Amino acid sequence: MPESNKEALQRLDAAHHLHPFTDGRALQQKGTRVIERGEGVYLWDADGNRILDGMAGLWCVNLGYGRQELIEAADAQLRQLPYYNLFFQTTHPPAARLAATLAGLLPGDLHHLFFTGSGSECNDTVVRMVRHFWAERGRPERRVIISRNNAYHGSTLAGASLGGMKPMHGQGGLPLPDMVHIDQPYHFGEGRDTDPHAFGLERARQLERKILALGPERVAAFIGEPVQGAGGVIIPPDGYWPEIQRICQKYDVLLVMDEVICGFGRTGHWFASEYYGLAPDLLCMAKGITSGYQPLGAVAVGDRVAETLINGGEFFHGFTYSGHPVACAVAQACIEVMQREQVVERVRDDIGPYLQRRWASLGDHPLVGETRGLGLLAALELVADQATLQRFPTDTGAGLICREHCFEQGLVMRAVGDTMIISPPLVITHEQVDELVEKARRALDLTLSTLS
Ligand code: PLP
Repeated sequence: MPESNKEALQRLDAAHHLHPFTDGRALQQKGTRVIERGEGVYLWDADGNRILDGMAGLWCVNLGYGRQELIEAADAQLRQLPYYNLFFQTTHPPAARLAATLAGLLPGDLHHLFFTGSGSECNDTVVRMVRHFWAERGRPERRVIISRNNAYHGSTLAGASLGGMKPMHGQGGLPLPDMVHIDQPYHFGEGRDTDPHAFGLERARQLERKILALGPERVAAFIGEPVQGAGGVIIPPDGYWPEIQRICQKYDVLLVMDEVICGFGRTGHWFASEYYGLAPDLLCMAKGITSGYQPLGAVAVGDRVAETLINGGEFFHGFTYSGHPVACAVAQACIEVMQREQVVERVRDDIGPYLQRRWASLGDHPLVGETRGLGLLAALELVADQATLQRFPTDTGAGLICREHCFEQGLVMRAVGDTMIISPPLVITHEQVDELVEKARRALDLTLSTLS
């Protein structure tokens, strides 16, 4: 039988393509899944299967696939000026306009933008910026950045070091020096026998203890995702973020919010910092800024830090693709669509609450120990015993089994250990939410049969 297009692609891919976050041996054995096309919230694979993308790609395709406005913005900018850089006192219209647009959307005094090509580059930029800031203020010993175990801040050396993923640290001798971690506010995983509020405060107060142990004069910044995404959609108990902010203010430690996932409406607010009442000194964004149509990130910088940077002479930092004109033009179009269609308000008042209600209905399934969510982020915890919330032994791989059953049902859902997570496009309809939840329930049923 002649080799199909799909098989030919899989063969080339297995021979030449090293994939991100992929088990190479499994890929060689099973081959890759080939995705060919997208429209709205759906993907089509090379076998013609239609798949509901419950993860919006990698938490980014917020406006869904095939949006003409974004395609046309890219096309027009490619014809006008496909590339120019922002180094050495130069700008171009898409970057200047986008910086101003973002400054108008961001909370607090985040009035200044530094563009990057990705979320990881944002976090590398943060490290360099906050250390440069403190050096300029005559405090070069303020170098330590505190983050959290099981945080995800990207895959560059600084991003992976700030992140608290142990398997990532295990490869390549990370974290880098002066990047330290405290425990995460993961109530179901690490404190479910305790009162959630007290647990959240206890976890926040670890920050104060860490600052005191290190010496406040050495601490430059604290960084956190408002809701940890890749760690398993971990929503901190109420009281956690206000306490973190209080501690940062008390010791003059800069507060950095990594909103690479949470920004641009994911939580029902333009930025989750608004939802949590935070006034960060720096805020990182990427992904939803272009709905994933172009690679782009930005670090928003508050007035105090920006003034010091501006008066500090040249900041020796930047990327060839910082503020790429095509990416900036697409981001501008993306924000305009979101404003015109009131996408954020719809997540806050309509489709977010609807998805959360429907998602919570999965809580009666015998495999489910907890459901939780915010906006269009949601998670459920797979357990071996619903009464005692006993987890499966780790080598059972319940999450991966469930993920495979989801694919068979035509649904992309991600597994973080035994935590199943979703982050669908923000434009998902009520009927598509129903479809998502029905497919998830069917996948849970099949997982239960596989495990029994
Ligand atoms: N920060 C957070 C919170 C993320 O979720 C991610 C990616 O998932 C990153 C940073 C890294 O972004 P990128 O993959 O664009 O480098």
